[in-house]
Parts: sequence; structure tokens; C-alpha cells
Amino acid sequence: TADSKTSLRIAIQKSGRLTDKTIELLKGIGLRFDDYKRNLMVECRNFDVELLLIRDDDIPEYVQDGVCDLGFVGANVTAETGANVTVLRDLDYGVCRLSLAARKEGDIQTTEDFQGKTVATSYPKLTRDYFEENDVEAQIVTISGAVEIAPRLEVADAICDLVSTGNTLKANGLQELDTILESETQLIQTNKTLSEGKKQLIDKFLQRMDGHQQAER
Ligand code: ATP
Ligand code: ZN
Repeated sequence: TADSKTSLRIAIQKSGRLTDKTIELLKGIGLRFDDYKRNLMVECRNFDVELLLIRDDDIPEYVQDGVCDLGFVGANVTAETGANVTVLRDLDYGVCRLSLAARKEGDIQTTEDFQGKTVATSYPKLTRDYFEENDVEAQIVTISGAVEIAPRLEVADAICDLVSTGNTLKANGLQELDTILESETQLIQTNKTLSEGKKQLIDKFLQRMDGHQQAER
């Protein structure tokens, strides 16, 4: 179980959009560790914490299962996996939205226009849920990356993908339609039972985080 070790185990994205900001935040609250780029697991030198560096997709389930006590991950990933975890903090980086998009000036302009169409996405669960709620029957094509080129390749009529500036959509001749989820990075905690020692470590960790964020404003 998560309790068999004393160190707090925290999952963070190994390499991607969230990595630098998360490392910066951890260093900012005074945690010292080295060589995180080369290792899967890194022990903190001055705090009872070890970092587990993994793909962001794996973080919610690791936290759910108590393999890690805490995790830094996008709300989009936690929502897609449906993991049973507690959100401790919403953070101000990794801000994006999961949106439907289709060809600019194409025949899909409203939600109803998706009826009978194919939609490429890396978020099949959230996309399916959205269409179900809206009583639209669309076919979901799950692909793991480069979703924005699917319409041009005629793999799908439209997409459901993460958007931040909208430049990627524009560059691919797509227009953003409905937003199905607003997202940001979150600090999540396991719902498995934690030892008193770990609970105290988490309190201390949160105090430092909150202090740090106040200092930044
Ligand atoms: P991994 O190799 O860890 O699976 P990834 O390719 O799935 O990485 P990244 O592209 O690094 O993931 O994105 C990580 C997270 O950054 C996303 O899940 C999302 O929460 C956030 N994010 C913010 N803006 C964007 C954006 N414009 N496109 C994609 N993700 C974004
Ligand atoms: Zn990922």
C-alpha cells in the first residue's frame, strides 16, 4: 500500500509541457533534488519526498491506486481516465481547453451538425460523454497524437483536441466550435488511507505551496 514507505511519493510528468513549471514550483518551495532528467525516481535531499517521473497519462491511476500519494497533472487527463482522486489545488499553468473543431467554412458549424460525422480525438471518453449529453451520434476515432491533421488526411470530419492559443487549429484550417472542458494543472491526492506521518508531510507541503503562491502575487 501507499503506507508501507515513509517518503511522500509525488508523480510528475517526465518530459512535456508541465515538466519545467512543476520542477520550478517544487524548487520554488525549497525542495532540493538533482539529476531528475536522467532518472525515473528522484529522492529529495532536504524533504521526505521522492518524485516519480512518468508519462502524464499514467499519473491519475498511479495516484488512485496509491502507488503515488500526490500527483501534478492536467485536469483533462484526470477527467479522461475517470480516476478516483481528490483535487487539492488548481494551479495556474498548463491552462488549456478541450474543444471540438472542424474545417473552417465546412459543413460542421453547430453541435447538431456532428450527427453522423467522425471525430478524431485522444480523449474518447470525454468526447463520447459530450455527444451523448447532446443527443448527437458521432463516430469517435481514437488517435494518440497529431489529431489536428486528421481532417486533412480524411481520417475524420472533425476533431476534439486541446487548445491553448488556437494557433495550431488555425494553421490547419480548422475553426474552434464548442469547448467541452476547461483545464489547468492540478495537484491531486490519493483517496487511499494515508499514515499520520504522510498526512503531516502533505500538510507541510501544502503550507509551503500556498506560501509560495502568495509570495508570487
Ligand atoms: P506525455 O509524454 O507525458 O504523455 P503528452 O504529449 O501527453 O505527454 P503534453 O503535450 O506535454 O502531453 O501536454 C501535457 C499537458 O499540458 C496536457 O495534458 C494539458 O493538460 C496541458 N496543455 C496545455 N496547453 C496545451 C496545448 N495547447 N496542447 C496540449 N496540451 C496542453
Ligand atoms: Zn500524455
